[in-house]
Amino acid sequence: MKSTLRLALQKSGRLSDSSARLIEECGIHFNHHNAKLKCTALNFPLEIFFLRDDDIPGYVADGVADLGIVGENVVREKKASIETLERLGFGRCRLSIAVPRGFEYSSLSDLEGLDVATSYPSLLTEYLDSKGVKAEIHVISGSAELAPSIGLADAVCDLVSTGSTLLSNGLKEVETILESQAVLVARPGLSEETQSLVDQLRFRIKSVGRARSYKYILLNVPNESIETVSRILPGMKSPTVMPLAIDGWSSVHSVVQEDEFWVIIDKLRDAGAQGVLVLPVEKMVL
Ligand code: ATP
Ligand code: ZN
Repeated sequence: MKSTLRLALQKSGRLSDSSARLIEECGIHFNHHNAKLKCTALNFPLEIFFLRDDDIPGYVADGVADLGIVGENVVREKKASIETLERLGFGRCRLSIAVPRGFEYSSLSDLEGLDVATSYPSLLTEYLDSKGVKAEIHVISGSAELAPSIGLADAVCDLVSTGSTLLSNGLKEVETILESQAVLVARPGLSEETQSLVDQLRFRIKSVGRARSYKYILLNVPNESIETVSRILPGMKSPTVMPLAIDGWSSVHSVVQEDEFWVIIDKLRDAGAQGVLVLPVEKMVL
């Protein structure tokens, strides 16, 4: 029997859309109806399970699924025996300790003996232990940010992305325990055949991830600037240079890393570049 890869995604929540989009961008199509717990991909030997994010590490560790996409925060909290294969660049957040705005906080030892509400007891305990601070941990399953205002706790340890939820609940962030993003995880002990499917999927995920961090750039330069511009824009091997219809000018094509883009643009303009066009890259295979 031909093997099929089983991948667990979050059913509905912050990671659901980005996870499904990543699989689609890997060229794998599937029809998912919301009520369904699983579906089969149309053009890749892949079955997708839709689960609560908290359950994903356990299901992967137990071999119910071969792979999963879940936040590092959940992976680290659950301590399941699974392997992290790729960081996926979405679902970025941090696990932080926050206290009411009026709390005069100067260091972690200010929490000694106080009540802290969290859904991440294991990570919080580890952190407090590592700093030699003893606090009372109250495990709650969600909305930790409400705990201080209803008198349930003196502080919270919760996920933060922009910080606006904390702010609107009168809290301030004072310590970061963990920086997190979505990751691809795998169960240990995959068969050779399954491993080869995992490798194919990883290759595609890497190509999509690389493409997302790059932009395709086209610009016109006077011929005497081609060398300078090529040094600024090394591209994957070297830039493509094509003559324009008017004498003395060329079009230069290359790729640039998105986070270097504005620095590079200034250098290109100084080198005499004109008519700069920037396009998204869909896949980038090395
Ligand atoms: P489920 O019903 O699957 O248990 P949930 O309510 O536990 O869902 P979500 O709020 O959908 O989980 O968050 C899923 C993941 O998204 C988190 O574990 C975390 O990795 C990531 N995430 C990114 N930003 C945030 C944020 N601001 N708050 C919470 N989670 C975030
Ligand atoms: Zn959850």
